[in-house]
Amino acid sequence: LSFPDFGLDPRLLQAVAKESFEKPTLVQRKAIPLALDGRDVLCKAKTGSGKTAAYVLPLLQSILKKKKTSPAPSTSALVLVPTRELADQVFKAIERFSAFCAKDIQSVKLTDKLSAAVQRSLLSSSPDIVISTPARAWNNVNSSALSLENLTFLVLDEADLMLSYGYSEDMDNLSKSIPKGVQTIMMSATLSAEVDALKPIFYREPTLLDL
Ligand code: AMP
Repeated sequence: LSFPDFGLDPRLLQAVAKESFEKPTLVQRKAIPLALDGRDVLCKAKTGSGKTAAYVLPLLQSILKKKKTSPAPSTSALVLVPTRELADQVFKAIERFSAFCAKDIQSVKLTDKLSAAVQRSLLSSSPDIVISTPARAWNNVNSSALSLENLTFLVLDEADLMLSYGYSEDMDNLSKSIPKGVQTIMMSATLSAEVDALKPIFYREPTLLDL
């Protein structure tokens, strides 16, 4: 199996080629087809496994596909991460993978380094993708700076750390604002009880990838 076999948009394949990824990693081989098929996925994946591309490519594909038929209303994708460092990494990965379709995809990263006013102004540009910790995301939803009503794609990366980093209340609050039926991908280094506590966020029973 190679990247062109996934049926990805040519602009995404161009970006993959630029990364010099020769072939997909195990996580990518398993998760990308499921995610492209619209399934919910709970995937055991560590840093270094290629987990970021495993959800970023299907996420970008889903936005590009929607934009082919009509202007996709924002914000259609939310990526929740437990740390600012991971938010930086994911933001950069999204920028690289969307380099050849940059005019079609806008993403915004919310961190505690930015004032509430700056966050609000970033969000007012109607980004397609928001990358955030649960706390920043909830603050902005709560203040109506961020609307999740058009959300169709949700990612929780390093999900096992969300609760130990103290985001359980923010996750509960966000869960209530997430529309039913949103496609959800959860990446976690372990499939521990911590992750079980987050499972109600799935609208459907996810496909489990215990790799
Ligand atoms: P991640 O597990 O997503 O943090 O990725 C770890 C590193 O592996 C990153 O530097 C990626 O650029 C790299 N990587 C991801 N997928 C592949 C691939 N298919 N082939 C080679 N390197 C990859």
